[in-house]
Amino acid sequence: MNLSAIPAFQDNYIWLLTHAGRAWVVDPGEASPVLSELARQQLVLEGILITHHHGDHTGGVPELLAEFAQVRVYGPANEALRFDYHPLQEGATIEIFDTAVEIIDVPGHTAGHIAYWLNPSSQSPILFCGDTLFSGGCGRLFEGTAAQMHESLQKLASRAPQTRVCCAHEYTLSNLRFAAAVEPENTALQAHIQQCEAQRAQGLSTLPS
Ligand code: ZN
Ligand code: FE
Repeated sequence: MNLSAIPAFQDNYIWLLTHAGRAWVVDPGEASPVLSELARQQLVLEGILITHHHGDHTGGVPELLAEFAQVRVYGPANEALRFDYHPLQEGATIEIFDTAVEIIDVPGHTAGHIAYWLNPSSQSPILFCGDTLFSGGCGRLFEGTAAQMHESLQKLASRAPQTRVCCAHEYTLSNLRFAAAVEPENTALQAHIQQCEAQRAQGLSTLPS
């Protein structure tokens, strides 16, 4: 399967998984960039994964459902979304392109936030973590407690270290600059900032992390 990111709004990424002309998208906050990319690659949308209820992660779903009748939509069991979907929570497993996808409960940013982890054959694992874990930081605590967020991050940290972390925003440089203010002596951090600045200067994404 192929993994790529569709930029949306100011700094969102809508992750796209494709295989043999079929496509899944993660957190489509708006439909138009997804529809353009599907048309460009001549893909049929097969499914949608939602990590949490925020509008910048769900807003495009109704329009995508109107375009593609057969789409399966998965989302968090402990949040209310304003369209029909299959509710998921930790312990559940679904399949995308014959690859098992594990569901992880990661409350903190929102109360019912979930993450999706998959381990495709002959590739590094993939994590879709929405607004929970970012490159160099984590999501804001809108609904959960710091203790919940810490526990959620520990769960993600226990996954394979080569996991490709596919977060939903390009927040890397602002997170790293904050980190550098906290740890001014950290030379690994300085090197990583330089690398990410170079990527952004070329208009490239810093993700997956
Ligand atoms: Zn959010
Ligand atoms: Fe967001």
